[in-house]
Amino acid sequence: MSPVLFWFRHDLRLHDQPALLQACSGEAQYLVPVFCLPDLEAASPWGFTRVGPHRRAWLVETLQDLADQLAQRGCPLLVCPGPAAVTLPRLAAALGARRVVCEEIAAPEEQDEVEALRAAGLSVHTVWHGSLLDPAWLPWAVSDLPATFTAFRQAVERAQLSPPEPLPAPSTLPPWPPGLSVPPALCLDLAGFGSVPRPVDPRSSIPAGEGGFRGGETEGLAHLARYLVRRLPDSYKQTRNGLSGPDYSSKWSPWLSTGALSARRILAELRRYEAEHGATEGSYWLWFELLWRDYFRFLHLQHGRRLYRARGLASHPNPPQDAEGFERWRQAATGEPLVDAAMRELRDTGYLSNRLRQVVASYLLHELRGDWRAGAAWFEACLVDYDVYSNQGNWLYIAGRGTDPRGGRRFNVVRQAAEHDPDGAYQRLWSAA
Ligand code: FAD
Repeated sequence: MSPVLFWFRHDLRLHDQPALLQACSGEAQYLVPVFCLPDLEAASPWGFTRVGPHRRAWLVETLQDLADQLAQRGCPLLVCPGPAAVTLPRLAAALGARRVVCEEIAAPEEQDEVEALRAAGLSVHTVWHGSLLDPAWLPWAVSDLPATFTAFRQAVERAQLSPPEPLPAPSTLPPWPPGLSVPPALCLDLAGFGSVPRPVDPRSSIPAGEGGFRGGETEGLAHLARYLVRRLPDSYKQTRNGLSGPDYSSKWSPWLSTGALSARRILAELRRYEAEHGATEGSYWLWFELLWRDYFRFLHLQHGRRLYRARGLASHPNPPQDAEGFERWRQAATGEPLVDAAMRELRDTGYLSNRLRQVVASYLLHELRGDWRAGAAWFEACLVDYDVYSNQGNWLYIAGRGTDPRGGRRFNVVRQAAEHDPDGAYQRLWSAA
């Protein structure tokens, strides 16, 4: 009997994995879990690599953990070099497989990948499991999603919607077919990629190294447990606009972005925490922020590729852009101390607070007349928590090219510095010297 290929995408975990469970159900006697590693050196249209060093190292750590967990269940992970559209048809032909099961992703490149597999004759079954809420349960069709986040959130809360209980990780999986032999050209050894760890920088808000942040489901679940044991939800509302340090916000995003943590698992743990310790403003605001994440996912279901046009959803065209201004921004050389400090942190650690993401995005778009798509591409390269939906959605929001009728967000950088870095400590921490 031919094996089922389970294609891991942005869901690199075993807990709360409905797509994997569907791959294992029915007549699946043999399973081959596979991840396609694209060319990490490939450049974006803006002239820099799409996957910078921090994101690359985080991804490799995540894959190593996933490979360990699968190996413990007797079903190793196959890491194939190259884009899925090319690699999976070759792999399927070599293994005599026809069926692929994977996560549904509502972003253009990811949709094109699935279309290419179908055009190559594979039967691809996709499962939507990237959001907290099931889009089918929303009080409206996704085509009628409210134009503002506030209206969306209020309707969700009025309807008392909550996600399904997360699924446990499977204790066993179907094995690889006996005697399976994968052509060497279709098989990468992860050990060869692990040789470049994330640099240890004590200033980082997600420090690497001994006892620090590490990619993968095992560490993601441990981080979530520690966050709750330390009662950090209670202070989240007060600290969430912080600029520096591991505790001012949850730091769930690096694990959420690779799918190593499921948002539903996070919420279920948060609800248990509230049942035990009582709900607070802080625990409510964590739910609130997770709803933003869902909102940008549903926006993709509603508008799809239109979100990726230069003008986004706006009717006015994208004005001519200042490429030189973008370069100064990217190189942390704008001359604006808070912006340059933040751009250094982003480049040197792969993370930046939400407050400073807003400030630097606004500065690029509204002060330097840079192209929002270039800014989004630089974030994609740098951020260990890069998430296609949240990144695109937030950039569109600040550019005023999404659904929000209020038309963009412009932050006064001097006022932001006075409010959030009154003694200049953050700017000194990330000064050029
Ligand atoms: P917390 O403040 O602890 O929030 C908890 C969780 O809520 C986050 O992990 C995240 O999943 C979600 N969340 C919080 N704020 C937002 C938001 N504005 N939009 C969507 N989800 C949110 N987030 C990403 O995960 N990936 C991105 O690529 C990304 N790009 C961004 C680009 C710009 C221009 C801006 C302004 C924001 C971007 N964000 C992105 C959103 C936000 O900055 C990060 O989710 C947050 O800083 C992550 O840190 P945390 O996990 O400690 O967040």
